[in-house]
Amino acid sequence: MDDCLFCKIVRGEIPSRNVFEDDEIFAFHDINPARPVHLLVIPKRHITSLANVSESDAPVLGRILAVANQLASENGSPDGFRLIINTGRIGGQEVPHLHAHIVGGSVPVGPMLKRI
Ligand code: AMP
Ligand code: ZN
Repeated sequence: MDDCLFCKIVRGEIPSRNVFEDDEIFAFHDINPARPVHLLVIPKRHITSLANVSESDAPVLGRILAVANQLASENGSPDGFRLIINTGRIGGQEVPHLHAHIVGGSVPVGPMLKRI
């Protein structure tokens, strides 16, 4: 996806503060952190949103969940975190490349549906 913001980040065309990369996924600091720890974990391959996944995406989605605790722990949220995947218009998704927010820090994240 030539014009996708997060595809450009994966390709290194837009700078980001990266924290993790493997063959399938990429993780970096959110540019506008809502909490002391705010990371984004994305599939390297363009997937628009959770509304656009198929069974063949299950492995990469599993990878995102599987690395979340390690990334949170290594980046300042060792006692838990919240993982959020905003989806589509109703979910408030602003960047149309699937991404999981990891938010945390040393104090509780707070109410469930507060906008992040
Ligand atoms: P969402 O509303 O779930 O689509 O979240 C998009 C997130 O991407 C927001 O938290 C933004 O702060 C973040 N964001 C936008 N542009 C960048 C960027 N260039 N680098 C890092 N994070 C970004
Ligand atoms: Zn993309």
